[in-house]
Amino acid sequence: MPNSQSVGLSEIQAARQRLAQLALPTPLLPSAALSAVCGQPVLLKCEARLATGSFKLRGASNAVAVLGDAARQRGLVTASTGNHGRALAHAARIAGARAVVCMSHLVPANKVAAVRALGAEIHLVGQSQDDAQAAVERLVEDQGLSEIPPFDHRDVIAGQGTIGLEIAEAMPDLELVLVPLSGGGLAAGVAAAVKALRPRARVVAVSMARGAAMHASLAAGKPVAVAELPTLADSLGGGIGLTNRYSFALCRALLDDVILLSEEEIAAGIRHAFTADGETVEGAGAVGIAALLAGKVTARGPVAVLLSGDNIDPAVHRSIVAGSWTATATATATAPCRRQAALH
Ligand SMILES: *Cc1c(COP(=O)(O)O)cnc(C)c1O
Repeated sequence: MPNSQSVGLSEIQAARQRLAQLALPTPLLPSAALSAVCGQPVLLKCEARLATGSFKLRGASNAVAVLGDAARQRGLVTASTGNHGRALAHAARIAGARAVVCMSHLVPANKVAAVRALGAEIHLVGQSQDDAQAAVERLVEDQGLSEIPPFDHRDVIAGQGTIGLEIAEAMPDLELVLVPLSGGGLAAGVAAAVKALRPRARVVAVSMARGAAMHASLAAGKPVAVAELPTLADSLGGGIGLTNRYSFALCRALLDDVILLSEEEIAAGIRHAFTADGETVEGAGAVGIAALLAGKVTARGPVAVLLSGDNIDPAVHRSIVAGSWTATATATATAPCRRQAALH
């Protein structure tokens, strides 16, 4: 069981109060098409409507708000070049704080530019995510910056948990929540809120089969490293940290199941989200829909599907919607490996 160090309903409720002005509740929209597929009401929780295109804004904004003024003035730092880096840059700008994002020289120029455009300082160091992380640790040591990690942090998890509050309150007869899973901050927070308010609801997490670190860790009974492979669900890549403190224990205690999906199944989810529901989602955001379409989970009552983000290469999205995408194309078109937490 999670201990007193973990995240519960009161932390999540406090996060909601802090987020009132920073991340408005997102829409929860009925999907006629998925409801027909499942024979149960299916509602889509549209997290891509938040300012940086993913739910990561909730956790980052909460963590920044919890810091005292003095720490905020010294500044914030992370090594994420993905949705968390964007969210932290945005949250810092709103708070009037300095944000530093450490990246290796291997990070593509467009990603560097996207984070810089949000007002963050970029530190380009080394040739790997490990080098970028070492730079984060130096800045914490030398300049007193506060590191805000992408998932294994109580205030980040509590912020993501506000999604669970919104779902549980809107759906009194909630039976199933489908939540994308990588480092587990999202799943842990959502499950903590849902299990507290709707104890009979199941919370089922979904990852790609290619390099699912939390799934492997839950199976091993402890955090383990997995090889990273290119995947359409690129925001779900990366490890959970071998010294994981919160998200692993919470996921182990609270998740009912973890489902793994093939690349083709994820592509079908992206396509269905767009053609049936008009929602643009990235691979990570489509896994809940994909799990339902693949028949890998059966709904016994009303379902909430968390669409976690929409940061997908438009050309890849077009080819998937057009039906011309193939799994082998991703394997060669996606930069391989050594990306770890960069993707969160
Ligand atoms: C980070 C992210 C996830 C996974 O969140 P974790 O807390 O790492 O499990 C899912 N979807 C998107 C779009 C993300 O950016």
